[in-house]
Formats: sequence, structure tokens, C-alpha cells
Amino acid sequence: MFKQQLRIPSAEEILRQQPLPESLAKIKRERDALCKAVIKGESDKLLVIVGPCSAHDQKPVLEYVKRLGKLNERVKDKLVLVPRVYTNKPRTKGVGYKGMFSQPDPENKEDILKGIHTIRELHLHAIELSGLSAADEMLYPENYAYVEDLLTYVAVGARSSENQMHRLVSSGIELPVGIKNPMSGSIPVLLNSVYAAQSAQVFKYRDWQVQTQGNEYAHAVLRGLVDSYGNDIPNYHYETVMQVYEGYAKSGGEIKNPAVVIDANHSNSGKKFRQQIRIVEEVLQNRAYDGDFKRAVKGFMIESFLEEGCQAHDLVFGKSITDPCLGWADTERLILDIAEKV
Ligand code: PEP
Ligand code: MN
Repeated sequence: MFKQQLRIPSAEEILRQQPLPESLAKIKRERDALCKAVIKGESDKLLVIVGPCSAHDQKPVLEYVKRLGKLNERVKDKLVLVPRVYTNKPRTKGVGYKGMFSQPDPENKEDILKGIHTIRELHLHAIELSGLSAADEMLYPENYAYVEDLLTYVAVGARSSENQMHRLVSSGIELPVGIKNPMSGSIPVLLNSVYAAQSAQVFKYRDWQVQTQGNEYAHAVLRGLVDSYGNDIPNYHYETVMQVYEGYAKSGGEIKNPAVVIDANHSNSGKKFRQQIRIVEEVLQNRAYDGDFKRAVKGFMIESFLEEGCQAHDLVFGKSITDPCLGWADTERLILDIAEKV
């Protein structure tokens, strides 16, 4: 039984009510091009997708992206900074805070219509304030239409990367889509996901049979894995990155634009958030040592917010209520360091 609680307007209707102004659309288009050039290997810059695990409150997220926008001015010759403005959260056990899309107030019940308006407002203000269009996770593919005009980078999470619908919808997105390795860490499964997203597809999407061209910007994100005993096992090391890179090569050109993004948190850090600094440094060292490794690794994903760590309830301004994050000062130092070592 599904008790109908509230009718949600279509994405078309919501976009009419809260449109993206042309001045911001122009910023997004320019940033899409920068991001795509990195994935294609046409640019030597590194992609850095950085920000809180979840955007649970507008004010601290806007303060964060404002700082990131200023920092971007200092590093834009070397890096493409993409703020994480993640409004949908997958939950390991399926319960708990599900993100701003579902809960615009994390301490209150689900209110999805308000959530949709709130996330659009946040993404719009974030671009306006920082000049940076963001990344968000496509947790529910049918909801992607509510933000598709706003984002520059789309993530498919570790719990979703084996899902048919995520793969099919990714094939129609004209942006870099970062597909995480599944929780098991299987590299063949990851490569199959990237292959599916890069392939032309026909399927039912929202109210239509749709046809896609395939997304050549779909790529692999290594986030570490969880073994069958529940232990976090890292996979940012040389061996795994090269296994993915060789997997691209073995496809004989069927999987295009070999690219790996290293997610420094999650099962790579075992959520020991300060380890993100060491992990990024190790990857940069490997990039400096080995040409193929350098060609493979096109970017980083870093969890960071105004205040370091995390909290169970939203008491401290700018502190994560989901995964623990680096604080601002460490983040700034790390980004400047990445820019120096690209
Ligand atoms: C995240 O990026 O915050 C996240 C939930 O990642 P994963 O899907 O890798 O667990
Ligand atoms: Mn997270």
C-alpha cells in the first residue's frame, strides 16, 4: 500500500517556477566545458570535487562555496574546483537523514515539495555567490530532472552503481558522471557500469520511451570497499588504479576517456577524515612517479566543511551531520598543495 500524501509537480513545472537565469546558465556551460576537458584528457588540470558529505543547511553551505569561489581564483590555472552540494543521501541501513531533497529540515519529517524548492534555491544561490556550479549525487534517477539544468558533475554512489536505472540514465547525461566502485570493490562491475553509461540506450524514463547517445564522460571513482567482515579496505593505491586503467585499455576503445577519480574519504580513509590529506599526497606522489598513473588519475573527491569532524545533530554551524569532514583551514592548505603538485 502506498498512501498518497502529496502530489509533487513535474520537473518542468518546478523549473518554470524557479528558473535558472541566463547569467548563471552561462557560468554552468563554461564550467561543464572545463570539467569535460579534464575527463577527455584535453586539459592537464585536476578535478577537485570538494565539500560536505551532505548539504543539510543552506547558510553554512553558501558560506563554504563562497570561500571555495575565492580559492578557485587562486588555483584555476591548475584545478577545476567543483563544490559538493549533495542533497540526497543514501543510507547504509536505509533509515535516517535522507538529505535536503527529502528533509529540508533535518530535525523534521519528510517534506519533499519543500525539499525540491529548497535544493533548487541552494544550487542557484551557490552558483550566484561562488561562480561555481556544483556536483550532486543522483540517488533517485527519476528525480534528476529537478536539478539537471544546475549541475556540472553528477555522482552515482557505491550502493547504486550496479543498478540498471542509474546506468541507463547516466547514458543520457551530457556531463561527467562519476560512478563509484560498488561496496564490494569489484573492478569488473565498476567497468561494466562505466561501459553501460557510455553506451547508447533505449528505455522508459519518467513518462517516455527515450533514446540516449551514451555518455563518453562517464568514469570510475574509487572510494574503497567494505569486505565481507565489514572492514574498510582502501583502493586508492597504484595497483587498483592501474587495474582500472588497464580495464579501460582492454576494452579496445569501447570504454572511452580512461579516467579515475580518487575519493579520499569513505572506505579509503575508513572515515578517519584527516587521512584524506595523506591519501591525496600519496596519490600525487604516484602521479609524479608514473606517467600512466598520472594519465589515469584525473581528480579527487574530498569531504570537507567549515568545521572538521561530524555531529549527530545540527548544533555547530558548518559541521557535517553525516560523514566526518576536513575543516576549512586544512582544506585550503590541501587544495593549494594539490595545485602546486599537479
Ligand atoms: C558520498 O559521497 O557521500 C557517499 C555516500 O559515497 P558512497 O556512495 O561512496 O558511499
Ligand atoms: Mn559521505
